[in-house]
Amino acid sequence: MTVHVIDEANRCLNCKKPMCRQGCPIQTPIPMMIKAFKEGDLNEAGEMLFSNNPMSMICSLVCNHEKQCEGHCVLGRKGEPVHISSIENYVSDTYFDKMKIECAPSNGKKVAVIGAGPAGITIAIMLTKKGYEVTIFDARDKIGGVLQYGIPDFRLPKTILERYKKKLREIGIKIRPNTTIGGALEIKDLFRDGYESIFIGTGVWRPKKLGIKGESLGNVHFAIDYLANPDSYELGDTVAIIGMGNSAMDVARTALRKGARNVTLYARGLKSQASAEEIAYAKVDGAVLSFGMQPVEITDDGPVFQKVLFDEEGNRTGVDETPIQVHADSTIVSVSQGPKDKLVNTTEGLKASANGLLVTNQFGETTHPGIFAAGDVVLGAKTVVEATAYAKVVADAMDQYMQGTLEEKLPE
Ligand SMILES: Cc1cc2nc3c(=O)[nH]c(=O)nc-3n(C[C@H](O)[C@H](O)[C@H](O)COP(=O)(O)OP(=O)(O)OC[C@H]3O[C@@H](n4cnc5c(N)ncnc54)[C@H](O)[C@@H]3O)c2cc1C
Repeated sequence: MTVHVIDEANRCLNCKKPMCRQGCPIQTPIPMMIKAFKEGDLNEAGEMLFSNNPMSMICSLVCNHEKQCEGHCVLGRKGEPVHISSIENYVSDTYFDKMKIECAPSNGKKVAVIGAGPAGITIAIMLTKKGYEVTIFDARDKIGGVLQYGIPDFRLPKTILERYKKKLREIGIKIRPNTTIGGALEIKDLFRDGYESIFIGTGVWRPKKLGIKGESLGNVHFAIDYLANPDSYELGDTVAIIGMGNSAMDVARTALRKGARNVTLYARGLKSQASAEEIAYAKVDGAVLSFGMQPVEITDDGPVFQKVLFDEEGNRTGVDETPIQVHADSTIVSVSQGPKDKLVNTTEGLKASANGLLVTNQFGETTHPGIFAAGDVVLGAKTVVEATAYAKVVADAMDQYMQGTLEEKLPE
């Protein structure tokens, strides 16, 4: 690993106009970081990574590098791009535990962060660095959001999140696990107790339904429920997964590791939404992909499909209505998620759009003064790096709001 990473670092051309950086949604200073690493200053390289992206260690493992930094590396035009993700992973992982996050002395102002996913963790770190006293509330018992309860351990070892938790505690962040805001405690209670500003980073945790007969049967499950705790399910030998995005690939690969023998993913169209890498790994692990299959019902014996018809250009022309019953011991529905509505229902003045996502302006201000939001609960189901990049902007806006310098332009 070490030799490989050093070799990769030595291949970096240190371009004047680094395309890799432009391709990164959070603008990681890649060539500068690699230069510091090559010159033997790993701490400096690590500092560059974390001061720009508090989730650097996670991003090095779960970002879609083939489309982002590595996909933009000029060496990739004629050959292999620099394996930037491995270098970032090596540097961030080695540096993380010794990193000392410098924080300004307390300014006495309290901030509440609802949700301990990437957006909430980023806000908490950035505002603590500026001297705010931050408390994070999360409905679950562990921090990380999807990182903990969605992405499987074989892609993102959960020990990393324990290390993050230790770091958060080290800099004085308080964490209240098992506390759903919008339950016993509501946002108005937080304002009453002296929190000057509140951040919502609650993500999207309501599975989208197919809306077909059979979805409530005992052998049918939703992807995010399954991934949150796969060991509590007995799926049987044959598993049908309806949906073919990245989450569906995670379900397939997890089910295969937990003992399922035949796992098939079904898509209505002719293409998968998942990244090429995720598809390749799911296939290597033994999953089968089946296209042009429209689910019309789920029975105790598995899903029933109709074949979708396409012309030569791949345009959908209709369906063959003959039902095709596929055998499956369990069926898992994996067709994305939307937000839950607990906070909107319990907070006067906090508005959501028709699809349930919170309404904000470009600084993440919601329709309620003092409440900000970022991540999936605003953008819909996206990525870790997008949630983090957005949270960085919102942390600055919350700081300005609490210092009284933010020009208030609440969204309608
Ligand atoms: C299966 C799966 C695999 C994925 N794989 C990748 C990947 O490989 N790479 C990538 O970049 N992205 C991936 N994503 C997407 C990525 O994980 C999300 O975009 C990202 O986690 C969003 O961060 P967030 O902070 O907005 O929300 P979340 O990570 O969803 O965190 C929200 C947190 O808020 C808490 N919460 C919710 N409601 C309340 C409440 N009322 N009170 C208190 N706490 C509450 C939840 O418990 C949760 O901990 C994946 C998503 C899924 C579902």
